[in-house]
Amino acid sequence: MLDKIKINELIDIVGSSNVLTDPSELMLYSYDATQLHRVPDLVVIVHSAEDIAKIIKFARKNNINVYPRGSGTNLSGGSIPADGGIVIELNRLNRIIDIDIENRIAIVEPGVIAATLDSEVAKKGLFYPPDPGSLAVATIGGCVSEGAGGLRALKYGTTKDYIIGLEVVLPNGDIITTGNFSSLRSSPGFDLTHLFVGSEGTLGIITKIAVKLIYPAKTKKTLLVLYDSVVKAGTAVAKIIENKIIPSTMEFLDKITINAVEDFKKIGLPRDIEALLLIEVDGEPEDVETSAKILEKVCMDVGARSISVAKNDTERMELMEARRAALPVLARLKPTTILEDATVPRSKVPQMLEKIHDVQDRYNLMIGSFGHAGDGNLHPTILVDRRNKEEMKKVDMAIKEIFNYCIELGGTLTGEHGIGIVKAPFMEKEFKKEGLSFFRDIKKALDPDNKLNPNKIVCTKEVHLDYI
Ligand SMILES: Cc1cc2nc3c(=O)[nH]c(=O)nc-3n(C[C@H](O)[C@H](O)[C@H](O)COP(=O)(O)OP(=O)(O)OC[C@H]3O[C@@H](n4cnc5c(N)ncnc54)[C@H](O)[C@@H]3O)c2cc1C
Repeated sequence: MLDKIKINELIDIVGSSNVLTDPSELMLYSYDATQLHRVPDLVVIVHSAEDIAKIIKFARKNNINVYPRGSGTNLSGGSIPADGGIVIELNRLNRIIDIDIENRIAIVEPGVIAATLDSEVAKKGLFYPPDPGSLAVATIGGCVSEGAGGLRALKYGTTKDYIIGLEVVLPNGDIITTGNFSSLRSSPGFDLTHLFVGSEGTLGIITKIAVKLIYPAKTKKTLLVLYDSVVKAGTAVAKIIENKIIPSTMEFLDKITINAVEDFKKIGLPRDIEALLLIEVDGEPEDVETSAKILEKVCMDVGARSISVAKNDTERMELMEARRAALPVLARLKPTTILEDATVPRSKVPQMLEKIHDVQDRYNLMIGSFGHAGDGNLHPTILVDRRNKEEMKKVDMAIKEIFNYCIELGGTLTGEHGIGIVKAPFMEKEFKKEGLSFFRDIKKALDPDNKLNPNKIVCTKEVHLDYI
């Protein structure tokens, strides 16, 4: 708890309207999309990098933890003030500073919402491809800090591929600039920009971001492919790429997810199929037509029940919106939603899907699966009630089995949702002792007092959090 004198010091920095102490307001900053929570001691709303530098110096002097927060939509507990302290709310740093058409670079503050950047650059004939399912609410700062992926990652890559420069407030309060804000080419020294991309607010607070833009594709074609078996759908994913087709989007939804989406969206998805693939190809018109023909043949050869093509932009958007709704609609089914980010080599998607179904049956759990199948990135989503202790024990065992199998198949703990607090205990499994020790060394070099978003990525202390 912060005493009155310390609170007044913070008020001197940002003004009284930007320091929140009311318990009902603090509660709003206590959780993220994992639904785990801990109430912060205080929230500070910032409007400049200089504000942040002062708060960080204040926190360091007073031995207080600091947690950066964008929109709090991350799925790994990254923005939760898990060990108490101050949450820094970054959403008001939300200016698009420049869209440089000639050099195809945008410079933005971290609180800009991903969809806003998307639409603003589109008005200038440019394209920013990273599009997490949460793009209508997630901030660019949060996306950079998580290295967020999205529906278009298969062809266009993730946020990591588009960040060329950053302004960062370090844990000692210094403000530095990395990379180059006006040129796509910058090579001197260590790649400091990418040290911070994906660092989940543990190494510094990002206050300015330079992103690379590209030109949008001329045409798109969207196909809905229905399957009577998840394994067949998974097999089609690898076969499509083997046939040298790289769709911009290749998304998977299983039966539970399809039915949850249909209950909510009512767009006529058949309820009796086991799985569907939502595939989009884009590019020059002739290439798109050729790719779509090959795609249809490959999908039918693998045993698709049927294939339909979106007739117009409205139908295309409807299908994309249905896919983006997968997580929120599943979350309506039970009080507690535990979403995983199991990512395996593309060729192993059928095995991973089989395993998820096997785990679901053996533990008698409700698991809806969906994800960016083209990247091997699946989101088995366990739907439970946190108050049911027996069920929660089974969830723990199921998650461990899914993780272990994922690593066995040559996969990774997370394809896009970060490590945060929930996956930190599994880091050694993926990186081994020496690898994890290197993570610790980097954290210690930048944040020797462990005050900036402690216990995220690198676990330093066991912290127990409850679901909200
Ligand atoms: C329905 C739904 C769909 C989703 N779909 C996807 C998807 O398709 N792909 C995907 O990758 N993710 C997805 N996510 C997860 C989430 O939206 C992303 O991780 C997103 O990047 C988080 O942005 P945010 O603004 O909410 O960040 P927050 O959750 O507030 O923060 C995320 C992390 O970044 C840190 N942080 C935030 N801002 C800064 C900053 N300026 N400087 C330093 N650290 C900072 C925080 O401390 C935290 O560790 C989805 C989430 C939901 C709820």
